[in-house]
Amino acid sequence: MSLVVIGSIAFDSVRTPFGERERMLGGSAVHFSLAASFFTEVRVVGPVGDDFGDAEYAVLHERGVDTSDIERVPGGRTFFWAGEYGYDFNTRDTLDTQLGVFGEFDPKLSEESRAAEMLFLGNIQPDLQYEVRRQCDRARLTGLDSMNLWIETTRESLLRVVGDVDLLFLNDIEVRELMEEPNLVRAARAMLELGPRAVVAKQGEYGASLYAADRFFSMPAYPLETVRDPTGAGDSFAGGFMGYLASRGPDASEDDAELRRAMTYGSVLASFNVEEFGTDRVRRLERDEIDARYEEFRAMTEISSAPMR
Ligand code: AMP
Repeated sequence: MSLVVIGSIAFDSVRTPFGERERMLGGSAVHFSLAASFFTEVRVVGPVGDDFGDAEYAVLHERGVDTSDIERVPGGRTFFWAGEYGYDFNTRDTLDTQLGVFGEFDPKLSEESRAAEMLFLGNIQPDLQYEVRRQCDRARLTGLDSMNLWIETTRESLLRVVGDVDLLFLNDIEVRELMEEPNLVRAARAMLELGPRAVVAKQGEYGASLYAADRFFSMPAYPLETVRDPTGAGDSFAGGFMGYLASRGPDASEDDAELRRAMTYGSVLASFNVEEFGTDRVRRLERDEIDARYEEFRAMTEISSAPMR
């Protein structure tokens, strides 16, 4: 199925206790598309400025991502984000956010993008997500990610778009914060009542859990010994998850086994993403490495079928 993503297309500056990098290619839509590109064709929608050059386009093109709906705004600046991590990689401080061309962005999607069967609304201002959701009214499966900034500054707008999608990909703290409910199970249940069919609550190095009306399951994260940069893990997770479902056809999201596989591919892609800074690791990734790690996940999570008596 055709998959379209809108979200930030960015330059990121990241500092961790183990090193720092300036103005790397990043953004929610970029991390998502690179991860999803291993499973299906992805179109990315969003604006960039004059500072977004051939080298940045090349990273997307090398993975076959369709960039014809990236709008280059003359005289504009690409979205910029700077963040810092301490020894706990599950939390980070935002040092700077400059919306640049996203401040004025008025999405006008091409006919090809409007016809998408699957849509991912990556992290960006929720009114923009809502506008794109409206334009892609033929989408059969829609996903959404967001962050604390939008929960705290544009809560009502965010709740409106949350009620209009099928799958939510949020950090567990964001689920609690948005629903103003400290218990994660209750918060996820309350969120399902707003409309989505499933909530995936991500918990960084502790994995991710999926909540739906009639099912729950949980995946650990891959036990990596080297994590260099957690930025983009959430978007890579969503890219692996939705990319896989896109490759399996329209009814895959109804099937329990397929959802479990999607959770596993999400975890696999997120685990590769954090091994190096920015997009470096996923750019070099090969399909057989994905399959090998999938197999490791399967072995890691297998339990015997019945308790001993
Ligand atoms: P993740 O680590 O998966 O939550 O996403 C990291 C990406 O989100 C980075 O590449 C940033 O460019 C992007 N990002 C950070 N803040 C924002 C924001 N306020 N709106 C949209 N994207 C953002």
